[in-house]
Amino acid sequence: MTDRINNPFAPRRGGPAQGAAPAARPGPPGQPAARPGPAAEGAPTRALDLPLRAMTGYEEEVVERRQGEANTAALCNEIVARCMVPPGADASAAYERVRALHIAERDVALLAIRRLSLGDEVACDVGCPACGAACTVDFRLSALPVSLGPIPAETEATLADGTRVVLRLPTAGDQEDLLDAALATESERRTFLLSRAIVRFGEREEPFDFARARALPIAVRSALEQAIEAALPDLDLSMAVACSACGHNFTSPFDVSAFFLPR
Ligand SMILES: [Zn+2]
Repeated sequence: MTDRINNPFAPRRGGPAQGAAPAARPGPPGQPAARPGPAAEGAPTRALDLPLRAMTGYEEEVVERRQGEANTAALCNEIVARCMVPPGADASAAYERVRALHIAERDVALLAIRRLSLGDEVACDVGCPACGAACTVDFRLSALPVSLGPIPAETEATLADGTRVVLRLPTAGDQEDLLDAALATESERRTFLLSRAIVRFGEREEPFDFARARALPIAVRSALEQAIEAALPDLDLSMAVACSACGHNFTSPFDVSAFFLPR
């Protein structure tokens, strides 16, 4: 499965085994139960001040036209932007607003649009990576423990030598650009995000570029990544699936087209 709504820092944030207790209803008998991925407890979902509406044929066409593209973040950003303006209207200003959202805020908007458009229930098929069996994942979005407290625009890390680094948290636009860059390795993707995230490094306030972020010692890179991860809200739109055929537990990202198109 290539269609996914993924937080680029999510793989470092602990697997599904560390998640909250299952909150979704189990699937029908004989099918695997699904539960949402780990999510934070505490603060209620922050009301995003976005004028969202249900999807129309305009957005349905966009999803269908773009569902084969590798950059699913771009598709998600476009859907949110279009659902902020009347059907068929120019969404370019809304698109820039969506790109400036935190990734988790964009994801909360996607969930809201999905519920407005197709209701609360999600059903999709996921192939088990261990035995290949098709697992039908079936749950209610309202059971997702989605909670977003206030998200800071910036966070700070203090390195072992006392250097203070100010970091900006990644946005939906960063995520889209990251996928456009089509980098080959996880290390390069981290370099890309670090080069954008570093606002101030000690006394230096000029922008970091890819080469400078790449040249940082790995201990420094790790410390900066951890600071970003610690500041990010714990919203992970992936599903923990237990295969009914072989018992294998795995995590699957939401399938974007299955998520947004009626079946
Ligand atoms: Zn299996």
